[in-house]
Amino acid sequence: AFESLAERLQQTMQKIKGKGKVSEADVKEMAREVRLALLEADVNFKVVKQFVNRVKERAVGQEVMKSLTPGQQVIKVVNEELTALMGSEESKIETASKPPTVIMMVGLQGAGKTTTTAKLANYLRKKKNKTPMLVAADIYRPAAIDQLNTLGKQLDMPVYSEGTDVSPVDIVKRGVEKAKEEHHDTVILDTAGRLHVDENLMDELKEMKASVNPDEILLVVDAMTGQDAVNVSEQFNELLEISGVVLTKLDGDTRGGAALSIRAVTEKPIKFAGMGEKIDQLEPFHPERMASRILGMGDVLSLIEKAQTNVDEEKAKELEAKLRNADLTFDDFLEQIDQVKSMGPLEDLLGMLPGANKMKGMKNMQVDDSQIGKVEAIVRSMTKQEKVEPKIINASRKRRIAKGSGTTVQDVNKLLKQFEDMKKMMKQMTSQMGGKAGKRKGK
Ligand code: GDP
Ligand code: MG
Repeated sequence: AFESLAERLQQTMQKIKGKGKVSEADVKEMAREVRLALLEADVNFKVVKQFVNRVKERAVGQEVMKSLTPGQQVIKVVNEELTALMGSEESKIETASKPPTVIMMVGLQGAGKTTTTAKLANYLRKKKNKTPMLVAADIYRPAAIDQLNTLGKQLDMPVYSEGTDVSPVDIVKRGVEKAKEEHHDTVILDTAGRLHVDENLMDELKEMKASVNPDEILLVVDAMTGQDAVNVSEQFNELLEISGVVLTKLDGDTRGGAALSIRAVTEKPIKFAGMGEKIDQLEPFHPERMASRILGMGDVLSLIEKAQTNVDEEKAKELEAKLRNADLTFDDFLEQIDQVKSMGPLEDLLGMLPGANKMKGMKNMQVDDSQIGKVEAIVRSMTKQEKVEPKIINASRKRRIAKGSGTTVQDVNKLLKQFEDMKKMMKQMTSQMGGKAGKRKGK
């Protein structure tokens, strides 16, 4: 039976369960599994090598999180690295400062250029309120113009064409002019493809690029073509300097390894994914979804997410206990600040506590991100005793703390006030919670 990489990794790492750290030997074994799986998923071998080395570096010596098995933890690292490699953020379509935005679709024959031209136009109109016009610049296959015309009719969207005996470079030039005259903010050029990358095709595309200066050159690549897709992308990018990639036919049974390699080899973002033949089956590319697909580990990921939530809950419970006893100190405060980057603002953390979301005036306790450095410096300039009992900080100590932290006495005062407000609010909150608990007990 088919085992996903996620499952294999879990098994490999099962035996180090209970150990405190992931050892080098464990990671070596794991790396072998990752390597095989990526190669199986059609990822370029150079990319695999680099990738596995990165994962190794990150995974060796890592503390094993309480709520994750080592296998899950390694999967988490692999998933994070995969996502990062494909670009962690969704990319957008560039828009011209002076309309129309010109988008040129390029790629081999059969990759899905014409289909994607229509899909993208539909997407931009629906989701981005654009008014696209399409240009039929594939004159080598008469049916290509008909195909785009049919799609244009289906979408009720204008298609510019001039037949098959005119130079495609002239067609796109006049097409863009026409779009400008008719106030279309976007024009998408459907160009010709060949079975292989050849000089004539590239020369024509280069000429086209020079003549209309597109804001985007999107390379359309068939995900089912695996390793070939990688070579094609490399060639197109070298000769034409593409701005992004649309990966089509991801509705097929490919593992999608091509996505990873294309991104790594061209360093250009994959912007959209074709998920079927229908006109609305185009989606912005989601790197994290593709990462899970490559590893075949949907379920494992949700498990890991859950485990992480548990960790957060544990921290929240600890904090809650402190609040109940109203013995929150500046050390706790500092610890919270350290967590701000990984866990979101203190406000959010407090928001996880029962009853906290009902508190008004939460906003006053907000820690401004740009102020975090300042706050940290101030707290670190306090003595141990002062951190626990800030009331003992007198005027001369305030001056010393300000000096030691490179801030002003006003900054110190502001922080002390904020801290006091926070404590007050917490007392209020705990008494509210206590009240409820009391009532429940009483019944
Ligand atoms: P072009 O030669 O690059 O213009 O390719 P076409 O747009 O004519 O598409 C070639 C074939 O691929 C057509 O049969 C399309 O319906 C099909 N196709 C395009 N995109 C997708 C996709 O995302 N999924 C599937 N299943 N088929 C697609
Ligand atoms: Mg076509």
